[in-house]
Amino acid sequence: MSAILDKAAVTTEEDPSNLTDGFHLVIDALKANDIDTIFGLIGIPITDLARLAQAEGMRFISFRHEQHAGNAAAIAGYMTQKPGICLTVSAPGFLNGLTALANATTNCFPMILISGSSEREIVDLQQGDYEEMDQVNAARPYAKASYRINKAEDIGIGVARAIRAAVSGRPGGVYLDLPAKLLSQTMDAAQGKKSMVRVVDPVPRQIPAPDAVNRAIDLLKGAKRPLILLGKGAAYAQSDAEIRAFVEKTGIPYLPMSMAKGLLPDTHAQSASACRSFVLAESDVVMIVGARLNWLLSHGKGKTWGGPKQFIQVDISPTEPDSNVAIAAPVIGDIGSCMSALLAGIASGFSKPSTEWTGAIAERKEKNMAKMAATLAKNPSPMSYHSALRAIRDVLKAHPDINLVNEGANALDFTRSIVDQYQPRKRFDSGTWGIMGIGMGYSIGAAVVSGLPVVAIEGDSAFGFSGMELETVCRYQLPITTVIFNNNGIYKGCDPNLNPNKPDVAVTAFVKGARYDKMIEAFGGVGYHVTTPDELAQALTKAIAAGKPALINAVIDEAAGTESGRLTNLNPKKGAAKN
Ligand code: ADP
Ligand code: MG
Repeated sequence: MSAILDKAAVTTEEDPSNLTDGFHLVIDALKANDIDTIFGLIGIPITDLARLAQAEGMRFISFRHEQHAGNAAAIAGYMTQKPGICLTVSAPGFLNGLTALANATTNCFPMILISGSSEREIVDLQQGDYEEMDQVNAARPYAKASYRINKAEDIGIGVARAIRAAVSGRPGGVYLDLPAKLLSQTMDAAQGKKSMVRVVDPVPRQIPAPDAVNRAIDLLKGAKRPLILLGKGAAYAQSDAEIRAFVEKTGIPYLPMSMAKGLLPDTHAQSASACRSFVLAESDVVMIVGARLNWLLSHGKGKTWGGPKQFIQVDISPTEPDSNVAIAAPVIGDIGSCMSALLAGIASGFSKPSTEWTGAIAERKEKNMAKMAATLAKNPSPMSYHSALRAIRDVLKAHPDINLVNEGANALDFTRSIVDQYQPRKRFDSGTWGIMGIGMGYSIGAAVVSGLPVVAIEGDSAFGFSGMELETVCRYQLPITTVIFNNNGIYKGCDPNLNPNKPDVAVTAFVKGARYDKMIEAFGGVGYHVTTPDELAQALTKAIAAGKPALINAVIDEAAGTESGRLTNLNPKKGAAKN
């Protein structure tokens, strides 16, 4: 604290007690907007900013790598509708955080990456400053907005602008550049106080046009085989009651995208998850709520989508409709307002879908679920993904409010389809990009924001991207249990090196029999090493009950995985015959 005040004192000849500086103004501006947590990693020039945040009662969660701090901020934004804040140093720290910012923008999560930066005059003339980089322009293509604040008196308005850009309309990532010089700039404290801005109505409601709503209702009324598709935008909107009421009143079967699982409980009678391919192919009118027809939905066309169909798209972004296929009835507005208007539209009468449609779905569902139950009941040794996930599913059933983080290839695909979600915004995964590396960042963000336990189900490869953050988990004593599906490698641990001389192990292979449980022990957490579903269930039950950092190394058959999980088709085909 005193170091910060001294800094102000040496840069001015005026009475320092009447002065404030950039450091204080940034913290004041964040606090004025109820931002109480920063995720970051300190160093030149922002160490004192983090110290001051802590001194002023904010929570500063200090990470080992900026990407994970950024991911924590992004998931915090998704969970709360308040921008998650990530603070980094200049150039390399900024670039590490930028990966998370780009991911947040891609996923429509509100976050603000704040980075310190070097001397403008030197950077702009490329004269070779310490950590020289034009960060504002580097961030621009990957963010919803990118701003730099140059004057202390602009800090209030600059922070307000960043907040509004992150959360209004379609949420996304915003970059805010704070030059080192700005932080030590001083100004009159009373003037500084006056310059603070509390953003009024940062997430304004956006009411859909009545004719758009009517067009959508008419289309739904004429449908023979309607389907509702819920995406993570629907989960983000926190309009759970309206969405559930609309689904139940219309009686239309629905499919949740992976992070929309739990918006209605996965055990809901109208969920068509167990016969996803069937409903996508057979439906004639599909109402998309807060989801995009991107690669995760085969762009709304092709074999997956079967015969001709018409789409209704409920979304906050007016440019989302017609991005992949023609949308017959766009409904533009925030999901809460749109669903309320649509509910009002069906109040005067809506006949539920025919039993021909719902019956066909129920029949398929039953058949597929019986098949899955038989696979899940098997007990191979070593464990398969299925037998391990059966154990996890059964334990988690008793903890519907637990936060589930999930990444990997096979570990992601199987968990998504086997582990049920019962509450909204409890599943956080690889998302729109289908990326690895979100594991520990999302886990820490979710634990800090919710105060509730987290279970992270991780492929051994996926875990590696953020594994060092186990120290962060232990340092803050967060209730996070990380389960590693350890099959000795990427996709599979048993692939051969195709070089006949085999100078190295295969590109997909890791150390055999690695003991990830010992990693967490190094930081004082509890490690478990399990080889059967019973041991896994016991370890998970104990770890959740303890509410302390734990890691379960679950040994899976090293031959169990498939290359790229369900995305095998995305690997380009080899043109030549050799290998
Ligand atoms: P999923 O991956 O689950 O399909 P996407 O992230 O692709 O979901 O799509 C989310 C969509 O939700 C985006 O098109 C975004 O514009 C929209 N969206 C996000 N928040 C809201 C909101 N509050 N109201 C309406 N639409 C929203
Ligand atoms: Mg693996």
